[in-house]
Amino acid sequence: METSNDKQLLIVGAGHAGSELAIAARNGGWSGGITLLWDETALPYHRPPLSKAYLAGKADAESLALRPRSSYDDAKVTLRPGARMQSIDRGNRRVTLADGTVLPYDKLALCTGGRPRPLACSGLPAGGAANLLYLRTLADAEGIRLRLVAGSRLVVIGGGYIGLEVAASARAIGAEVTLLEAQPRVLARVAGAEISAFYESVHRDAGVDLRTGVLVEAVEMAGDQIVTVLCAGGERVPADLVVAGLGMLVNVEAAQAAGIATEAGIPVDERACTADTDIVAAGDCTLQQSAHYARELRLESVPNALEQARAAAAWLCGKPKPAAGIPWFWSDQYDLKLQMAGLSQGHDRCILRGDPARRSFSAFYLQGNRLLAIDAVNRPAEFMLAKRLLGPGCVADPERLADETVPLKDLLAQA
Ligand SMILES: Cc1cc2nc3c(=O)[nH]c(=O)nc-3n(C[C@H](O)[C@H](O)[C@H](O)COP(=O)(O)OP(=O)(O)OC[C@H]3O[C@@H](n4cnc5c(N)ncnc54)[C@H](O)[C@@H]3O)c2cc1C
Repeated sequence: METSNDKQLLIVGAGHAGSELAIAARNGGWSGGITLLWDETALPYHRPPLSKAYLAGKADAESLALRPRSSYDDAKVTLRPGARMQSIDRGNRRVTLADGTVLPYDKLALCTGGRPRPLACSGLPAGGAANLLYLRTLADAEGIRLRLVAGSRLVVIGGGYIGLEVAASARAIGAEVTLLEAQPRVLARVAGAEISAFYESVHRDAGVDLRTGVLVEAVEMAGDQIVTVLCAGGERVPADLVVAGLGMLVNVEAAQAAGIATEAGIPVDERACTADTDIVAAGDCTLQQSAHYARELRLESVPNALEQARAAAAWLCGKPKPAAGIPWFWSDQYDLKLQMAGLSQGHDRCILRGDPARRSFSAFYLQGNRLLAIDAVNRPAEFMLAKRLLGPGCVADPERLADETVPLKDLLAQA
């Protein structure tokens, strides 16, 4: 790798990935210019609290900043908020913004994340509805928080993490919540059946009218507002506010037009390099080749965004690649902290340690005696230990895993 000297690093997108990349590149020795541009106005902020503490009114916008403005000033990072990248000219190494500004680069980092997948159903006008909201940005969360009051009837469409967290925060405010999930269970894409069953019962106990296997077919409007959500089975659910949590679409249109992405994401290697050696990419917008899982993965998590950003910065600065960790994630709902490490796909058994009824247990996902993943509910110590040991050769003793009289550290090992 050549040294950076007066070269220009242009970073597009200032979420967890872009903000981290800017600082890590400077700390790693990038001596040229660094510009961080993004199409929101707030300083880069933590997204996870948007559906948790922020929505429940327990955190304010200032407390969400990823780092103070002085950190960017100290690292001589030029900030360009409110700037939207329109296109990439790879041949001439320059980017054009929506306002027509052309910015040259020597190295480009794409950290453009994603946007909510829109609800599609009959009766919904093409422009959406005034009371149909999504949750990705601080402005989205502000919009929901303003409308969510005690007694209001909230319909959440989608029982993934964001839908469930919105439901929990809305119950804390005193809203009446109905949650509609098309799959037979919540969290079907990301967690085992045991965890789904546990969270379904927790939400029902908290007063959420949670319905699974229910397909939203249409909405009835009054003016610009949805007043009823209609389900395929004939159920009619009255609504003051509808929040759709239907997953994410990647923001890769410019990269796609430039020939380095598909609509599924920007393919990158383990150094976060794209097919163009002048362009790296990090975070939710990427499709990464994982040596550990021997397949392409798209991970939507803060730890992944940070890890890829640090790998990209190391590559740009000619430094060794930092060690890759196991994917991990967390979710806060009510008094429950769920922490997950590893990917459970392909497990042939799930062993519970602890007691769901006491709201403290871990689910261990095994293939034979190989430990693939752990989901820990209110068990931070167990999670930390398993996360540290998880890896290609981690094996567990399935017969004794459920036995809490045996310390977990005696049951996990590297084969
Ligand atoms: C409500 C919510 C709760 C979450 N909870 C958790 C959690 O508990 N744990 C966890 O690990 N993860 C959680 N996540 C996921 C996590 O927030 C994301 O994985 C993470 O933010 C990804 O960071 P990123 O930098 O890749 O993308 P983003 O944070 O999406 O940032 C993308 C940036 O790109 C900018 N941008 C996009 N297109 C353009 C363009 N054309 N021009 C200029 N700028 C552009 C955007 O303005 C933004 O600044 C949650 C996400 C949400 C929305």
